This record gives sequence, structure tokens and C-alpha cells, in this order.
Amino acid sequence: MHDKTLAELAAALGDGEVSSVELTEHFLRRIESLDNRLNSLITVTAEQALETARAADAARARGEAGPLTGVPIVHKDIFCTEGVRTSCASRMLDNFISPYDAGVVERFKAVGCPVLGKTNMDEFAMGSSNETSDYGPVNNPWDTQRVPGGSSGGSAAAVAARLAPGATGTDTGGSIRQPAALTGITGLKPTYGRVSRWGMIAFASSLDQGGPMARTAEDCGLMLNVMAGFDERDSTSLERPAEDFNARLNTTLKGLRIGLPREFFGEGMDPGVARVIDEAIDFYKKLGAEFVEVALPHSGLSVPVYYVVAPAECSSNLARFDGVRYGYRCEDPKDLMDLYMRSRGEGFGPEVQRRIMVGTYALSAGYFDAYYLKAQKIRRLIADDFRQAFEQVDVILAPTTPTTAFRLGEKTADPVTMYLSDVYTIAVNLAGLPAMSLPAGFSEGLPVGMQLIGNYFDEARLLGVAHQYQLGTEWHQMAPAGFE
Ligand code: GLN
Repeated sequence: MHDKTLAELAAALGDGEVSSVELTEHFLRRIESLDNRLNSLITVTAEQALETARAADAARARGEAGPLTGVPIVHKDIFCTEGVRTSCASRMLDNFISPYDAGVVERFKAVGCPVLGKTNMDEFAMGSSNETSDYGPVNNPWDTQRVPGGSSGGSAAAVAARLAPGATGTDTGGSIRQPAALTGITGLKPTYGRVSRWGMIAFASSLDQGGPMARTAEDCGLMLNVMAGFDERDSTSLERPAEDFNARLNTTLKGLRIGLPREFFGEGMDPGVARVIDEAIDFYKKLGAEFVEVALPHSGLSVPVYYVVAPAECSSNLARFDGVRYGYRCEDPKDLMDLYMRSRGEGFGPEVQRRIMVGTYALSAGYFDAYYLKAQKIRRLIADDFRQAFEQVDVILAPTTPTTAFRLGEKTADPVTMYLSDVYTIAVNLAGLPAMSLPAGFSEGLPVGMQLIGNYFDEARLLGVAHQYQLGTEWHQMAPAGFE
């Protein structure tokens, strides 16, 4: 059962082959017996999941089931869930029981998807390895000595290990795509504004975007059909006509123009990753796609720009965690200042504190023009590069990450090395574009991800291009040993 995709599970429910309660119990049993090897979940919500499953079975019996009714999923612990701890993997929110549901959570509730639990992540989504979590790191199911990527590392590991058929994630600089690549699953970061940020704990608001993580492109499309849509409670939510994101799964790729950004194929890419990407390019050529070299001349500046913009926004967003209203409060504060300082000093981990300091510095009166304003100008140039590239091509293909999964602890001592694991993903967030990562092969036994970047609102095309690849390859079907 657990080896089936979301689409297959939905069909099995539709045929009466299995009930939602049976399915939910099955995945809960897997979590119980296998997650001690991974630590992919912070909270398991078995009772609520079974209650939703019973309601889903009843809805189905009444003929009221939608495409995903009764299919269990997990939510990244950055999405607020009513009555359930929402920790953002931080000591700051370890005691926080959300009084309301995030927009995304509401939408999955409305269609009747049982929620098995909340997934582990980097603290406040700041990280690329899931090692900054206050609940301990997540292990990669392909090699438990290695990281699953981050920040949506728990969601990625849970899906890769078949503990859940689908998961939500968020992507501020690569946090859906990079862990998807490192664990051999498929993940989609939508166009900025597609998915409501209401109740999705803010890290860097102009970059944060929720999206689906599952085993296949088709599954990501099914999830995006639930997740996407206007939400007036999010001031950057887009008002667009309803759309079936899987409408173009079977569109031919003959004549499709695929861009290869010359800047992404230079130094720094692991030879094993380069070989896999070359093979993927050959595959698309056989399907009739044409390849064109494109230039993204400012993309080399995206990591430095991001590490000004994202910390600046985070320093402002995280000011709300003051020990007064909710979350962690230090013991016996002497006075108000002591309360603020110790609550924040004890409640936030070192990476979060580093970001707050960098952001506060970049926004301070004497440095605002030199750092923040300059970064915003370069951000525009990065977006313009993509605009020009999409005048020549339909989609852009690149690796998702320069290397496969690295060892736990390998990069924790050097933040800059860690930041560089997002070199190929960050520019997309700065531009607000949709992009996905899908499994494209292995290097020394570890999964390699291929990234497809689309023009604004082109998720359906991206999913089609990915689906055609998955029809002709089996990488997305491989399960890590011990989790088959
Ligand atoms: N790894 C990047 C960071 O640490 C991106 C994180 C994310 O997308 N949430 O900020």
C-alpha cells in the first residue's frame, strides 16, 4: 500500500479496495516502527488523523469524495494546525498550540485528508540540512549518516521512506527543491503568491512559498490543486482563475524549447551530478525537445543577495517572539529588558540568532543603502535575467544541487559552505518563479535531482514536462533499502 503514489491511493479508495481508516492506520504503523531511524516527525497526530479518516470514509459512502479525500498526508511544522503544537522546530514555539489553521491546512481539511503528523525541519526554516532543528537532525533514508537536506527535511525524508504519500513544504531559498533532490522525491515551489502564506510562520515574507512534496509530478499537481488559490488574509495572495495543474500532463514535448543556463553548468558541480543531468538532457532530446543555451549573468550574485534580503526580513518577522505574548519565556525575569533578552537568547538557536543579527545590521541606518537597498537592486537584475531567458525558451533545466546528500555534521561548522548548497535554487525565489525538482538518477548510491524552472504561472507546463520524464524513467519509483 505504502508504495503507491497519491494518485494510486486515491484510485484504490475510489474502487473500495481500501478504506481511509485502513490506509491511515497503515501509515501510522509505519511511522511508529520506522521513524526512530529518521526523526522525520516532531508530532504524530494519530487520533485526529483517524477521526478525519472516518469522516472521509463516510463522505465517500455518501458520494461526496473529491480526488484526494481520505488520502493521508503530513504537514511541515511551519504550518499552524489548530489544537496541535506548531513548533517551527524551535524551542521558542515548543509549547505553542496553534489556535487556528493555516490557509493550506484548512484547504486539506476541507477535502478530508487525514494529517498523520507535523514534520521536522530546520529551525524557522533556516538551513539546508535539517540540522538546526531543536528536535534533532533528520536522517536521510538513503543513508542515515547523511542529511536529507533542508529546511523541509522531515517532509522529504517521510515521503522518501514511504511514511506518508505526500507532504507540504515551504521554499524560501530552496527548501522544497533541495531536500526533494537529496532524498529522491519530487517537489514543487509554486509561483510566489499562488499558495496562501496565512498561518505559515513567516521567515522571509517576500520569498516564502508553500508547495507540495510527493513521489511524482502527477501527485504534486494533485496536491497543488488543493493548496493553490486566493486567500484574502494574505496580502500577497494572487487572484487567478481556478486551474487544473495536471491539465497538461500528456502534452507532447516536441518542439519544447529548454534553456540551459551557462552559469549553472560551470565549476563546483559534482561530476556524478553532471553526468546524471547530461543523461536527462539526452532523454528530453529523444522526446523532441530543443536545447538552447541561455544566460543568467547575475545569478552568481543570488546567494549574497539572498543572505541580505532573507535575514533582513527574518529580523523583522521574528521580532514578534518576545517572550510576552506566546512561546518561550525565560524563568524569573528581573525586568522587561531581561525578559526580552533571555527569552530570545534562550528560545532561539544559533543559526536563527545569526540571521537576526545579520538582518538587523543590514537594516540599520548606516548600512541600509550599502546592503539592503543594493541587494534589492540586484534582485531586480536577477529577475530581469529570467525574463529575458523566457523570451527564448519555455522552461529552464538545471541541477537542483551541486552535490548529493552530505554527511551529518559535514557543513555545520562553516555557514558559508552550507549556504552554497542552494546556489542553483535561490535565484528562483528572488525572482518569484515556479520551479521543481525531480529524481533523475543516482551518484554513488545517492539520489540526484534535476531542476525545472518555469515562467510565472507555468506550473502546469512544468508538471507536464516532469511527468513525461517520469513516464519514461524509473528513478522516482526507487525506494531506499529498509523502507521499501
Ligand atoms: N537554505 C536556505 C536558508 O537557509 C533556504 C531555506 C528555505 O528555503 N527555507 O535560508
